[in-house]
Amino acid sequence: MSSPLVCSVCGKPAVIYQRHSGRHLCGVHFCADVEEHVAGTIKTHRMITGYDRVAVALSGGKDSTALLLMLSRLLPSFGEVSLVALTVDEGISGYREETIRSAEWLTRKLGIEHHILSFEALFGDSLDTLLKDREPRACTICGILRKKALVMGTQQAGATKLATGHNLDDEAQSVLMNTLRGDLSRLVRDSGVNSSGIFIPRIKPLREISEREIAMYLMLNEAWTDLPECPYSHHALRREVRSLLSGFEYRYPGTMLNLMKSKEKIRQSCSGTTDADLLIRCRICGDPSSGEICQFCSLMQSLGR
Ligand code: SF4
Ligand code: ZN
Repeated sequence: MSSPLVCSVCGKPAVIYQRHSGRHLCGVHFCADVEEHVAGTIKTHRMITGYDRVAVALSGGKDSTALLLMLSRLLPSFGEVSLVALTVDEGISGYREETIRSAEWLTRKLGIEHHILSFEALFGDSLDTLLKDREPRACTICGILRKKALVMGTQQAGATKLATGHNLDDEAQSVLMNTLRGDLSRLVRDSGVNSSGIFIPRIKPLREISEREIAMYLMLNEAWTDLPECPYSHHALRREVRSLLSGFEYRYPGTMLNLMKSKEKIRQSCSGTTDADLLIRCRICGDPSSGEICQFCSLMQSLGR
């Protein structure tokens, strides 16, 4: 009879095999490893420094739930840092209500200030209304408005950084998608901490943690949420890239991390180009923009607003 798999650190029963490190880990050592990894990412890239007020984009889904949970635990090691959670209510009926409930439950449990930003209050209409006869553009419209809502919320909350829950899978998918589209400028774009005061830096502390590790972390912390899928999620290219990359990662562990490393190398060879180097001010609203008119103002014009 084969012996049960045990934790490579303490010898207790293991709950996960960490492919990239080749170790089996128990629940305690797995959670500690993930939190240490995230703390390391934050420190290496100077994502959070003393006296920062970090706004966490909390959709109520898995990634943002794990992010808020981890940051609330890691906070004391970063000095006088405070947290505020922002949830965008796009107005997607039958979907958003449940994720908002989950976000409210978590922020109450952790005692974190929470603001809800609704499309209706900010832009005059819910996404459901804005999408009448425009459904194929759902994710583009939603993405631009959500980004704007989060920046507005971050400014209103007096925060100095905006943290999002993008994980390793999301980031690796984006590298591959931008490469497949031949979009080098998007590939090398860095809207992180080198903002030179032009925009609020966006940080992604989970960018080296895989979707699988996040799911395990949530289950071990009894924070797993099984929420419905957005009815507009028909992002065909990302879906295909996602399944292709998961297959590769399974057969060749480390594939996703390697993609991220490639992006960094390309960025460095472009002499560390940052968004701040590439941006000008939007002619209409004055926000940082890569063109004469920012994406938000162009969208508002095309929606006739
Ligand atoms: Fe918005 Fe598309 Fe995400 Fe739905 S799937 S929340 S429409 S970006
Ligand atoms: Zn603008």
